[in-house]
Amino acid sequence: MDYQNILNNIEQEVLSKNVTGKVAAYIPELSCISADKLGMHLYCINSGHYQFGDSNERFSIQSISKVFALTMAMLVHTDDLFKRVDVEPSGDPFNSLIQLEREQGIPRNPFINAGALVVSDTLMSHFENPKEEFLKFVHTITQNDSIDINEEVYLSEKKHSHRNASLVHLMKSFGNIKNDVDQVLDFYVYQCAVAMSCKELATAFMIYANGGSLLNGESEIITPSKVKRINAIMQTCGFYDEAGEFSFRVGLPGKSGVGGGIAAIHPGQYAVTVWSPPLNPKGNSELGMLCLERLTTLTGLSIF
Ligand code: GLU
Repeated sequence: MDYQNILNNIEQEVLSKNVTGKVAAYIPELSCISADKLGMHLYCINSGHYQFGDSNERFSIQSISKVFALTMAMLVHTDDLFKRVDVEPSGDPFNSLIQLEREQGIPRNPFINAGALVVSDTLMSHFENPKEEFLKFVHTITQNDSIDINEEVYLSEKKHSHRNASLVHLMKSFGNIKNDVDQVLDFYVYQCAVAMSCKELATAFMIYANGGSLLNGESEIITPSKVKRINAIMQTCGFYDEAGEFSFRVGLPGKSGVGGGIAAIHPGQYAVTVWSPPLNPKGNSELGMLCLERLTTLTGLSIF
């Protein structure tokens, strides 16, 4: 398969599109990013790297970090984790409070904000320095120690976290947050502020495409059985209240973030990432979704 040619075609096709989406502005620092950024990186298990555009420029990974936090939590906790957070699609916006009130403080899944706050709480109970451990985990799976948070994004989101603060307080009132609410929120915002390029993200997501192991050898990060579960949650819950649409149009497990990034995998084949900041009304990168839809269409390969 001539993947580079396919990516070049995708780039040409999407560059001519009239984008109607908007760059996220509820975290003020995110709105400083140019709406014209566009990058894609495909990392194939058998044939290596292909890319176009701004694929080497770091951006705010935002909710894509929730996949890494869940992976860490599944490494250190056993089944009790899924007593505190469910694995059902929410069908509601990622920061909704309504469902949480109705369902007594048990978030629908680990990829909505409430779920990621509970996952963060479990990591805080386990690690003395959870922020350090989180970055260490990202460094391990990318084999790249230079990855760090974007301090401006971190501070900007901290100042504008009222909705996430409500979620964490509500869950505390139901007994589903064990640590200090401000510290849980701080740790969560820290994870979201990690900055990575499409290439670095595709490298990180290779563990989900490659049965839990790094591609460079035998190092197993997480078992194939746990990866199967993480991929299942990505498939059903990775795209806010548009997970069905993403499955329908693209057909790969993945996770998006309000920074405009999407990371997806084809088990046994590849990890792929796209970055384009303007978001559609459901919060997913408008061109990112289109690029991935074209990828699975032009290659004729998806998990379905
Ligand atoms: N830090 C963002 C928030 O909590 C993440 C949202 C996202 O990327 O889905 O609102």
